[in-house]
Amino acid sequence: MRIARFTKDGGLSFGVVEDDATIATVAAHPFGEIQLTGERQPLADVRLTAPILPNKVIAIGKNYADHAKEMGGEAPDEPLIFMKPSTSVVGQREAIVYPRLSERVDYEGELAVVIGRLCRDVPAARAQEVILGYTCANDVTARDLQKKDGQWTRAKGFDTFCPLGPWIETELDPSDLAITTTVNGETRQNSSTAKLIHRIPELIEHITQVMTLLPGDVILTGTPEGVGPLQVDDEVSVTIENIGTLTNRVISRD
Ligand code: MG
Repeated sequence: MRIARFTKDGGLSFGVVEDDATIATVAAHPFGEIQLTGERQPLADVRLTAPILPNKVIAIGKNYADHAKEMGGEAPDEPLIFMKPSTSVVGQREAIVYPRLSERVDYEGELAVVIGRLCRDVPAARAQEVILGYTCANDVTARDLQKKDGQWTRAKGFDTFCPLGPWIETELDPSDLAITTTVNGETRQNSSTAKLIHRIPELIEHITQVMTLLPGDVILTGTPEGVGPLQVDDEVSVTIENIGTLTNRVISRD
């Protein structure tokens, strides 16, 4: 099932994308049993927004060996976690705003996991029970500020620096999916989620030993090699096999 969130006539609803052309409105939220209102409309008539507004976004650093190498280091033995504020989230076709404070803003295409229920201390063997589904993410990063600050809150936390979408795919085996990032149609990252060092069940076990996860919380699983800069007016797309393509344009703050 593909769960989206959309706006039309000023309202904001969750919806189920039933085929590539129709969206059925969800009565309340997508957690637990999904109730439809019965209203259906062409997908082309609505505007998609981020498929979820998380309470928190937890991201994993250096979770592909080839990316750790291109950053000049080794992959850490245990998952390296950091956070992006919920206010960094935007959705399909919403703008990435290039901040005034940075001169080097990079894309990072990533598989995102959306949590479906409140949980803590989840053993890896039971991780599947707390997952709602998966979506595409772009862990946009001000690389110059990341290096300068020594920690990543500012570099990763600007408004619009966490595009998510286009929807949440709930029926998916995430273990070996092609993941590509293009800038203006040119391929920049091309890998597979099979190369994740710390796999999703292990990440959930690790994170939930630290903090309670809430329905809608998002885990970004890390980016493969090929990260690079974005410029104002670029169009960046993250495509993950069997999910879809998340596309955003970079605009100037001024
Ligand atoms: Mg990342």
